[in-house]
Amino acid sequence: MQQEKTNLQFWGGLDTIGGNIISIQHGNYRIITDFGALAGVNSERLTAEADLAELIDNQKVAAIPGLYSRKRLGNHPITSVEETEVQTIICLSHLHLDHLGSFAQLPPETPVLATQESVAFYHQLETQQLLPSYLVNWQGVEPLKPIQFGPFTITFHASDHDTLGIAAIFIETPEMTIVYSGDLRVSGFHPDRVYAWALAARAWEPDVLLLEGTSFSRLGQAKSSVDEALEALIQHLNAPTEVKLLQDIEALLQQYPDKLFAFNGYPQNIERIHYLAELAAKSQRQLIMDTRYYALYVANYGEQPGVQPFEDAATINQNPAGYILQVDFEDHQALFEVDAGVYLHSNGMPLGSYDSNYEPFVKAVHQAGWLFVDANVSGHAYPEDLVNLAYLIQPGHVVPWHSYQPEVMGEALQNFGLKVWLPKYGESYGG
Ligand SMILES: [Zn+2]
Ligand SMILES: [Zn+2]
Repeated sequence: MQQEKTNLQFWGGLDTIGGNIISIQHGNYRIITDFGALAGVNSERLTAEADLAELIDNQKVAAIPGLYSRKRLGNHPITSVEETEVQTIICLSHLHLDHLGSFAQLPPETPVLATQESVAFYHQLETQQLLPSYLVNWQGVEPLKPIQFGPFTITFHASDHDTLGIAAIFIETPEMTIVYSGDLRVSGFHPDRVYAWALAARAWEPDVLLLEGTSFSRLGQAKSSVDEALEALIQHLNAPTEVKLLQDIEALLQQYPDKLFAFNGYPQNIERIHYLAELAAKSQRQLIMDTRYYALYVANYGEQPGVQPFEDAATINQNPAGYILQVDFEDHQALFEVDAGVYLHSNGMPLGSYDSNYEPFVKAVHQAGWLFVDANVSGHAYPEDLVNLAYLIQPGHVVPWHSYQPEVMGEALQNFGLKVWLPKYGESYGG
């Protein structure tokens, strides 16, 4: 046995969005959760062919000993998976690249535990090339069914975020109890799931709550100059919830009954697309989808008479008011071939002004004659929701992370009477 006590170590995401990674070890058993692309690292460069030793030396993947294969490491001095007694599993909260983007560096035998819904959805997304192919040992788990791994008991709890299968993860070690929130919101389609696991956490009295703090990142910060400059070209819906967004879209459909609508959404938020299909049917329109999204939609909701894959612009131009056209940024030429109407930018790419594609795209869409409507709803909880949830749970300590401003979040938590822990990199924390 290397260690008799539970030991926690943080490898990423303490003051960034993305790549939040913690290892929890007891003896020769270790859990790592999650294992995404570190902040600022382009996940497209984290392929199985990349030079792993170089990635580690350039801090593009976490320098975790006993995790990577000697074959991939080459001469790198770090301990390989073959040279350790420690058994490691990865617990994955959800399918976003900032949580799984480093998977290509793992040996194919590495067990990756995620909800069955996540695993099934992963394979659909991978088939449509909407996520990379990762050769790992996927293991679907049922929410609320405890799993034993050495001295650990792990329980996944269904949660809500803008992807299917999202879970909060409860980990019991011989000395302590830990809740990892994953990414979450209470303004989506399933706030009940979040409150359900939060209530379960409260009853469980966890020592540590690892809580994402994305929405604290931009708190108190001014609009970018690009956003200021584009302001005149964009109409904002400012819907705070998924339900309000659908109401606002329905109102627009009634306001512009003679116009074609276009929708640029996020493939993993297939639920929003499902409800959009219902709105389309309600307003006597066909939803015409990008072929990859269509395959994803059918895999989850089956074939529907009012939902069809894209064929050609000419069909749409015969009766623009009869359609909603769903587009993806990578394949959006149709936007410039059809009769411009109302364009809904709804968490699709390019996401915002920090993406250099954003400004030229907004201008091009506007210039083509579309009414450019910002129809975004965040996948992340609002600051007050995060603080309220932590207050509901009453953990021993809250670790605010997955945020550019963990100290601002920490202050807000302390103002609510919660104890905050701001860990550091390179430290090994004993149970
Ligand atoms: Zn995230
Ligand atoms: Zn996420």
